[in-house]
Amino acid sequence: MPLEIVTIPCLSDNYAFLAHDAASGQTALVDAPEPGPILEALDARAWTLSHVLLTHHHWDHVDGLAGILEKHPAKVIGAAADAYRLPPLDQQVSEGDVFEIGSEPVQVMDVSGHTVGHIAFYMPQSHAVFTADSLMALGCGRLFEGTPAQMWESLSKLAALPDETIVYSGHEYTQSNAKFAITVDPDNPALKQRIADIESARAAGTPTVPSSLALEKATNPFLRAENPEIQAHLSMENAPAADVFAEIRARKDRF
Ligand code: ZN
Ligand code: FE
Repeated sequence: MPLEIVTIPCLSDNYAFLAHDAASGQTALVDAPEPGPILEALDARAWTLSHVLLTHHHWDHVDGLAGILEKHPAKVIGAAADAYRLPPLDQQVSEGDVFEIGSEPVQVMDVSGHTVGHIAFYMPQSHAVFTADSLMALGCGRLFEGTPAQMWESLSKLAALPDETIVYSGHEYTQSNAKFAITVDPDNPALKQRIADIESARAAGTPTVPSSLALEKATNPFLRAENPEIQAHLSMENAPAADVFAEIRARKDRF
């Protein structure tokens, strides 16, 4: 049975997620921006945390951890490469490692770029991937530590997951990402439709996260560096995809 996944808005624009296995009663939290809304979401369902999965070291993804562990002494899992700057980890993981939440295997993917040591958690049976600030809804994280080539490789790995995969990313940035996306991919009808959908979702106060990988591949310019129309729009016909990605990322930084 797939895990039950709950999206929890935190701070001003962060998301944390609960992934619950009804059979075993195990519940994983993905990222810990602040305790309040996460403890409330657990209490409302009478769930107890068994695991906390950390995607990367930024404060808005880890600062709530201590306050959560006081009430829910769960096993904390994060990147071995970042153990020196993450909160204390009970289990250090790297690309290709697999652990379980209940009977659901969780695959660790290195998705460096936003930070070096950023990881994603892929749950194939539940068709879910938790990407935080790597692949985001209609965007990707800013390159604070990694290179464009590194982020392109990370995004390409995520894009290779099955189309039906649901992408649980770390922030509600979608509306501002949309304003940029249309400037590099102005004639994409799927993008125009998505922007209309985003506007009505936000007007209704509904989160735009998660999204499907199929929709990201059709509309997210950071996954579309190989698209001939985007390449032509940037005067980069037949350029290497990593270079086109680097140009799109640089334009977003200036946008
Ligand atoms: Zn971050
Ligand atoms: Fe963040």
